[in-house]
Amino acid sequence: MVRTRFAPSPTGYLHIGGLRTALYAYLFAKKNNGKFILRIEDTDRTREVKGAVDIIISALEKAGMHYDEGPIVGGDCGPYVQSERKQIYLEYAQKLLESGDAYCCFCTKERLETMHENGATKYDKHCLHLSKAEVQARIAAGEPYVIRQNIPETGTSTYHDEVFGDITVDFKDLEDNILIKSDGMPTYNFANVIDDHLMGITHCIRGVEYLMSTPKYNLLYDALGWERPVYIHLQPIMRDAQHKLSKRDGDAGFEDFLNKGFLPHAIVNYIALLGWNPKNDREKMSMAELIESFSIDGLQKSSSIFDETKMRWLNSLYVKEMSADDFHKAALPYYEKYCPDKNIDYRYLSELLQTRVEILTDIKERAAFLDAFDDFDLDLFVNKKWKTTVDMARELIDDCIECTKADDMNAALESLAEKRGIKKGQVLWIHRIALTGAAATPGGGAEMVKLFGRDEALRRMTVVKARLEK
Ligand code: GLU
Repeated sequence: MVRTRFAPSPTGYLHIGGLRTALYAYLFAKKNNGKFILRIEDTDRTREVKGAVDIIISALEKAGMHYDEGPIVGGDCGPYVQSERKQIYLEYAQKLLESGDAYCCFCTKERLETMHENGATKYDKHCLHLSKAEVQARIAAGEPYVIRQNIPETGTSTYHDEVFGDITVDFKDLEDNILIKSDGMPTYNFANVIDDHLMGITHCIRGVEYLMSTPKYNLLYDALGWERPVYIHLQPIMRDAQHKLSKRDGDAGFEDFLNKGFLPHAIVNYIALLGWNPKNDREKMSMAELIESFSIDGLQKSSSIFDETKMRWLNSLYVKEMSADDFHKAALPYYEKYCPDKNIDYRYLSELLQTRVEILTDIKERAAFLDAFDDFDLDLFVNKKWKTTVDMARELIDDCIECTKADDMNAALESLAEKRGIKKGQVLWIHRIALTGAAATPGGGAEMVKLFGRDEALRRMTVVKARLEK
């Protein structure tokens, strides 16, 4: 059975690239009726952030990626948090010590620094040559030590990656990495192998930064007599041709985009296509459709550039598709924030805005007209396209007020234009400005009258009339 995992470090933040890694692992597992596992890689205690695991779990939930095994839900291969698996790693490290595939290293920070200052590019295997007795004595004396992987000094290693093809690495380019740190915690380099094996991971889907160190992991699989997983390395998401989309850009996090008013599935849909080609020319795809179409051979070897404008467009398709109720519910917090306590029909405002916003924070700009009326500049009546003037507004305001009282307001405005021998657009412009004091509104005068209610609409026009007559 296919088993994939998402193995984030709990940094308090889920990068959009991390979410995409999780997504591909999820899609691949689900496509193959397999299991998707969440594993928390928290062995670097200095990077520990409180509440970070909850952030990851809640992000996966919002994104619609249900994990089959992991923290909270459990499973047969737990615990799923690495800091709770310390003994397991030590046990396997011991095996590697016994077989000679690893060794204890007592080198001090100072010695390592001097070594590097003298031009060494990697650890010089100094402690590999200590006698068994010396090692035992130094451990017994309480000297701090780490356990390092013993990498062959010559030869090469080749493995197959499903995206990048055959990868060959020269052993002389690999360092004897630390497997167990002096505090007894494993490094990523060790824990990922032990866990992927013990958790039965069949396909290892992760960032391309691990592509060249994978031969080291393969040596560990071989030393322990374990089968290697299938490797699928992914190119990063870029901000532009040279730079990765990074946390420093301020908005590379899944939560950042949710806060900006993107819908979770629109983000998921967009990032799914950022690095994977479904080969069906489809852009808007539900999770079920993504699962159905997913295949490894659609994964791109080149990196992809994040295009927020495109994600906005995709989001707008999802916004339009929401039920009126759902949109209204989603919009309410934004009304609260951007245009609270207006005496208007907010439900109707939602109706007007649903087709006019791409992301929910667009509500701010689209609802700005609600604050435009007080003291607006009468020159707003001047419109080059419609050739309207303040004088024309002054002349038409009484008629516009009468039209607003009519049962069929639109018909009344139309016949007003006819009667005066002017364009309907001219009448509509003057009418709308008199109602709102804003050049851009979601909908025309008729919508605005409905939004404010007729009494308020007439009150506003009377205020404008008085200003025009001053
Ligand atoms: N904890 C690693 C990271 O966050 C996971 C890499 C992997 O998927 O193996 O980069």
